[in-house]
Amino acid sequence: ILTKQQILNWLENCHHILSEKKDELTQLDTAIGDGDHGVNMQRGFAKVAETLPNIADKNIGSILKSVGMTLLSQVGGASGPLYGTFFIKGGQRVLGKESLTFAEFHLLLQEGVQGIIARGRAESGDKTMCDVWLPLLKDLEGMNADAPAAVILKEALQKAEQYSAATLPLIAKKGRASYLGSRSAGHLDPGAASTVYILRALYDAVK
Ligand code: ADP
Ligand code: MG
Ligand code: MG
Repeated sequence: ILTKQQILNWLENCHHILSEKKDELTQLDTAIGDGDHGVNMQRGFAKVAETLPNIADKNIGSILKSVGMTLLSQVGGASGPLYGTFFIKGGQRVLGKESLTFAEFHLLLQEGVQGIIARGRAESGDKTMCDVWLPLLKDLEGMNADAPAAVILKEALQKAEQYSAATLPLIAKKGRASYLGSRSAGHLDPGAASTVYILRALYDAVK
C-alpha cells in the first residue's frame, strides 16, 4: 500500500508539519516539561530533510534506519533517542523493500513501538507518546488490509487524535512531566501530540 516515494514524502512532510507546529509543541512542553519539544522535533526533522536527497535511492528499510540514526544523533532529550529507535527498529523490519504491503507497514510500526518501549519502559496510561502508539497498533489489527492506504491512514489518524486528546487528564509516570506528579494532569502530552503530527504527515503523503 505504500511506495518508496510516499515514504520519502512522509519524511519531507514531517519536516514541514513539525516546523509549522514547533511553537505549539514547545508550549505543551513548557506546561509540563522543559519547553524544548518543539525545537527538538523541528531540528531533528530539518536534519532528516537535509539527508533525504543522499539516501533517496536506498531501500525503504535503509532509509528509515538512516532517519533514525539522524534523529538519535541530532536530537537531545528523551524524544531523540525514542523516535530515533522507532525509525531504526522499524526500518530493520523492512530492509530491502521498495514498497510496503499493509502487513509490512503494520510490522514496521509494531517493531518501532517495541523499540520505544524497550528504551523508555512506558506503559499505557503513563502519559507518553505510547498512549497513542499502543492503542493504535491494536486498531490497525482490526482494519481491512485491502482498503486503500488513504482510507486506512485517515482512520488511523482520527484514532490517534483521540488518543492524544485522552492524555489530557492523565498523571505522568515517565519522563520530565512525571516530576510534576498530579500537576501534570490537565495538559496534553507533547510527545503524544508530535506522534499525531508524524501520522498526519504520513496521511498527507498518501491522500
Ligand atoms: P525531554 O523531556 O528530555 O525534554 P522532549 O521534550 O523532546 O524530551 O520529549 C518529551 C516527550 O517524550 C514526552 O512528552 C513523552 O511523550 C516522551 N517521553 C518521555 N519519556 C518517555 C518514556 N520513558 N517513554 C516514552 N515516551 C517518553
Ligand atoms: Mg522537553
Ligand atoms: Mg529537554
